[in-house]
Amino acid sequence: MVHSGYVMPKEGFKSITISDYNYERFKEAFQTNKQALARKGINSFSGYVTYMLEEAVERDRTFARCAPKLEALFVEEDRIVLQDNIHNRIAEVVLQQGEVFCLFCESKDCVHVGYVFSIPEVYRTLDNKGINKPDLP
Ligand SMILES: [Zn+2]
Repeated sequence: MVHSGYVMPKEGFKSITISDYNYERFKEAFQTNKQALARKGINSFSGYVTYMLEEAVERDRTFARCAPKLEALFVEEDRIVLQDNIHNRIAEVVLQQGEVFCLFCESKDCVHVGYVFSIPEVYRTLDNKGINKPDLP
């Protein structure tokens, strides 16, 4: 008889099951980004998975909150044009000097910048470039 290998999680923890395929993908991403992650204080694989999930939940929340008010009209490599239904005008967010900048608000931490980071394809591009979301209020 072979044991299943299932180990009860510690008190205050839960286990989840993912496919080998996804596990390997996450593990590989963790190994590849180990140094950058360590700078963010993430030193373990489970810490990395938790961090990714928290980020994703936060992005979904921002996206859902903004979605009726803001929508992306064009997404380019270093320029995102948004329709702002709050001010009823166009807001242009650009990538310059390694930072995301809103030309409408002349700001690095406005609602438009926050929204841009919640668009999955934009977030991935920015993340690949090592650009982090600013701490928004
Ligand atoms: Zn703005």
